[in-house]
Amino acid sequence: METIILTKEDIMDILTMDDTLKAVEHAFEMHGKNEVQMPAKIYLEFEKGDLRAMPAYLDGKAGVKWVNSHPHNSEVGLPTVMALLIYNDPETGFPLAVMDATHITNMRTGAAGGIASKYLARKDSKIIGFIGCGVQAYTQLSAHLKLFDVEKVRCYDLSESHAKKFVDYCSKQNIDAEFARIEKACDCDILVTITPSRKPVVMAEWVADGTHINAIGADAPGKQELDPEILKKSRVFVDDKEQAFHSGEVNVPLSKGIISENDIAGTIGEVIVGKVKGRIGDEITVFDSTGLAIQDISTASIIYSRAIEKGVGLKIRFF
Ligand code: NAD
Repeated sequence: METIILTKEDIMDILTMDDTLKAVEHAFEMHGKNEVQMPAKIYLEFEKGDLRAMPAYLDGKAGVKWVNSHPHNSEVGLPTVMALLIYNDPETGFPLAVMDATHITNMRTGAAGGIASKYLARKDSKIIGFIGCGVQAYTQLSAHLKLFDVEKVRCYDLSESHAKKFVDYCSKQNIDAEFARIEKACDCDILVTITPSRKPVVMAEWVADGTHINAIGADAPGKQELDPEILKKSRVFVDDKEQAFHSGEVNVPLSKGIISENDIAGTIGEVIVGKVKGRIGDEITVFDSTGLAIQDISTASIIYSRAIEKGVGLKIRFF
């Protein structure tokens, strides 16, 4: 039997945001039904970065993502984050595919924000605010364009050049976009925070009732983007409780005792399967995304099917 090797270019050719939204919604739904296996991420810590193993099994699909984070890699001409995914047949363990998972990570993260907004934001949301205009902002936008009638994008970034590049990108897609003051960018229907910040960047007084916030940037202990006062006056949903308590937006306020685990309304999966109520009226809702291995494996399963259908990838015999 042969294993298919898929590069980033192969995946960019065959993976659409529509497919990724379906894959991620399905993964969250299975999580909400408690029908997934997803042990906690395992870390190897180095002087200059780390490596993480993210295994998962859901619905006949299994595999592991192996991903690094080395913030100073640009000095040696390498990306900060490089991810590979092995997609296995659970019947035999056979490695069906080995694929680049960097683009998968970007796409499934965008899709997670989109699906959270689908269930938690007001249906008539039209204005999206972005705090942070780096790599992840583009797939967040792409997911929201599939699900909402976006009329306006307001964005803020510490780097004016990153914000302007994002505004240009939006304009090329005929979206009315502006580089705004941070307070103005928060004046929106759906706010996406996507920075690596370790202290709050969005203050409670800037966020109006009815706003939905996708807090995407905090995915490691010590990271946070939101004034904890926002969490105290919102209904807060997470992707996975264990992972969010350890490394999500809620990790710092929980460790300081500003909020408690009982303040978390539930997981997005529980909302999807109807175990927990989503938005109630004009409240502020927050989705705390840490990024789940099931999102990667569910997306990889679609990529594998598309690769077989289209004859994409290099086939090699390992065994
Ligand atoms: P990136 O480096 O491409 O972009 C980050 C952007 O944030 C940059 O443009 C930077 O100038 C800006 N920024 C930094 N600090 C800021 C601040 N205080 N205020 C405003 N802007 C600020 O990184 P990325 O790949 O887009 O990832 C962003 C964050 O998202 C990281 O923390 C990453 O670990 C996290 N992430 C989370 C998930 C998830 O599943 N939740 C997935 C991927 C990445």
